[in-house]
Amino acid sequence: MSTLLVKHAALLVTMDDHRQEIPDGGLFVRDGFIEQVAPTRVLPAQADEVLDLSDHIILPGLINTHHHFYQTLTRAVPAAQDANLFNWLKTLYPIWGRMTPEDIRLSTQTALAELALSGCTTASDHLYIFPNGSKLDDEIQAGMEVGIRLHASRGSMSLGESKGGLPPDSVVEAEDFILSDSQRLIETYHDPKPGASIRVVLAPCSPFSVTAELMRQSAMLAREYGCQLHTHLAETQDEEVFCLEKFGYRPVEYMDTLGWLGSDVWFAHSVHVMDEEIHTYARTGSGVAHCPTSNMRLASGIAPILEMLRAGVKVGLGVDGSASNDGSHMLEEVRQAMLLARVRAALQGASLSVEGSSPLMTARQALEIATRGSAAVLGRDDLGSLQPGKCADFFAINLNRLDYAGALHDPVASIVFCAPVRSDFTIVGGKPVVENGQLTTIDLSRHIHQHNQAAQRLLLG
Ligand SMILES: [Zn+2]
Repeated sequence: MSTLLVKHAALLVTMDDHRQEIPDGGLFVRDGFIEQVAPTRVLPAQADEVLDLSDHIILPGLINTHHHFYQTLTRAVPAAQDANLFNWLKTLYPIWGRMTPEDIRLSTQTALAELALSGCTTASDHLYIFPNGSKLDDEIQAGMEVGIRLHASRGSMSLGESKGGLPPDSVVEAEDFILSDSQRLIETYHDPKPGASIRVVLAPCSPFSVTAELMRQSAMLAREYGCQLHTHLAETQDEEVFCLEKFGYRPVEYMDTLGWLGSDVWFAHSVHVMDEEIHTYARTGSGVAHCPTSNMRLASGIAPILEMLRAGVKVGLGVDGSASNDGSHMLEEVRQAMLLARVRAALQGASLSVEGSSPLMTARQALEIATRGSAAVLGRDDLGSLQPGKCADFFAINLNRLDYAGALHDPVASIVFCAPVRSDFTIVGGKPVVENGQLTTIDLSRHIHQHNQAAQRLLLG
């Protein structure tokens, strides 16, 4: 049994059902779970560990619902800087095809370090390319060393160019092997219990890189074990045309024919969805990982997020892979979600109303997507808010800094409206992964050097 007392936060944002924000707030934690959330004066005075967070704002840990860690090795590649999705992929597939297990390990730790330093306490990753003997095990084992929770998706590609798919044949796998490896990974690593550090997800990559049969078989296997399902969907207009031509359906309709709608499924992007498809998501409980920076970077479009929220769709936030973002900063992504929703509102002719509700996404709404929303999308009722019984996953930022000077009349809004900063403390299950702005688990100076060497080798071929 071990206890942690966190006290004297300038403001503690609970994101509980009443959205309480507690001045001079704190938490009492026992064995990784929250026992009490309250003003400091009513919390126990003693604990095994005590953390005084005077001058800091505390928020529930941010939860990233979509990433491709390996892409940290191919950020800002010149030939892929100004391409749309399909051309971007065709440029990068051959480079990714040179990766080794060591590259997967390095890139996983780079992405998770960046995420942790931006307030992220749980990340979902989608690894769908396994060249030169790489396995999802390489990612999971490297990820555990960093210390934030990981939902590792066993991605897959089986539809190569010769069968009408987008990826070259050299990077696709046989479907029998994909399914047997998926089963092995679930049996080895998947932990369904509250407070789990590792969960396994099955995630055929996209409609244009796998067959209908692999989608169906993956869904059956995941449901046998109670795992979640994930894929890219309705990201671009090119994908919509591909689905209509190859399958005779729009992307969401196609998912319906495959048994791929439900509360155990979430889709990355969903930029090009119509009103009735939004209602299909709401009715079936299917979730969405919103990736605003990536959608801007690849000129994919603007996802109708406020429409989804109004319809009752579960929406979480994702930074997406680092070749289409190219940073893994969750707080920056929160800001982008808020701003991009406002561009959409402007394009639709909405204006800011002073009285009553605003048609513009607020800072608190954007933070809610990244916390409660993301937790719901990942099927985690033990994460996403700070309240008794939930995991002690939170981050804290010192408000006394240049970036927020003049904005402290509303500290919650400040951390979204002002320039994104790094987390000072990121705590996962009551344990510090970031302390005083420094990662506690891996030595970054050595790591960055190794990562850059690996990236250079991949690009030179
Ligand atoms: Zn993606």
